[in-house]
Amino acid sequence: MHAQLLTAAGRPLVAAELPAPRPGPQQVLIEVRACAVCRTDLHVVDGELTDPKLPLVPGHEIIGTVVEKGEGAGRFAIGDRVGVPWLGWTCGVCEFCRSGRENLCDRARFTGYQIDGGYAELTVADERYCFAIDRRYGDVEAAPLMCAGLIGYRTLRMAGDAQCLGIYGFGAAAHIVAQVARHQGRRVFAFTRPGDTGAQDFARSLGAEWAGDSTSSPPEPLDAALIFAPVGSLVPAALAATKKGGTVVCGGIHMSDIPSFPYQILWEERVLRSVANLTRHDAEEFLALAPEAGIRTETVTYPLDRANAALGDLRSGALQGAAVLVR
Ligand SMILES: [Zn+2]
Ligand SMILES: [Zn+2]
Repeated sequence: MHAQLLTAAGRPLVAAELPAPRPGPQQVLIEVRACAVCRTDLHVVDGELTDPKLPLVPGHEIIGTVVEKGEGAGRFAIGDRVGVPWLGWTCGVCEFCRSGRENLCDRARFTGYQIDGGYAELTVADERYCFAIDRRYGDVEAAPLMCAGLIGYRTLRMAGDAQCLGIYGFGAAAHIVAQVARHQGRRVFAFTRPGDTGAQDFARSLGAEWAGDSTSSPPEPLDAALIFAPVGSLVPAALAATKKGGTVVCGGIHMSDIPSFPYQILWEERVLRSVANLTRHDAEEFLALAPEAGIRTETVTYPLDRANAALGDLRSGALQGAAVLVR
């Protein structure tokens, strides 16, 4: 099968011809139809997330068709369409798994990081971590739901019932989260790279009532802020824009260092927290909600062999919405 392979951090992916993987017990072999490109892929390729499996097939927003089942695999039938997310395996016995927090599992394994992912024609996944995908979505359209959607949704949940919601970094996750927030009747304020009027227009088209530079103040104080851009200096900016008792949630897996800031902007019971990974419960909840809420995704497709171009466009901020690799 054709695959795009990471052989060492900091190097471009290389096209490779690999033997077709075989499904093990409780695994399914999946013909990949579409795989969205996540910022986390960029962190793995650039070496900001350390110790990936090497060589590695990246990609953890996979939509494909089950073509073979391993021993004991019975959740899906041959021909079923499934989605494969970042959470690829958990131990089920650690204190986190036993308390409904499998996203924090001590021995968790992640797709496109410790497990070969979807930048390939075929992939193998543990069926217990795969999900059925609603018929209302095409393959390309559904792919960004698998991480930008799922982890974005978990990030939004951590904001509680905040009405005035600030979103910093208006990429793949934000463009989905903004729609969910609007569906829930919240007000959305979008912050982009300074001068990125294209992203600001995009945010307004998805229901943001205000969009501006991340260096500017919103027209009114926020009840909560979500940060999707991997930029540490946004943390004090978001705290300063957030009301007493409000929450700032960091939704990414990696961020540049957070500069020191006066205690005064955290005081008055503001909460600063991060979100890590997803639980299967998050996925079930979000994948049921998305079609009912009419969530659409904006995608730019690239052929599989142009994965490096997709990563480059994501790195430079040239993309609107989500990049998706197709065969
Ligand atoms: Zn565990
Ligand atoms: Zn991701």
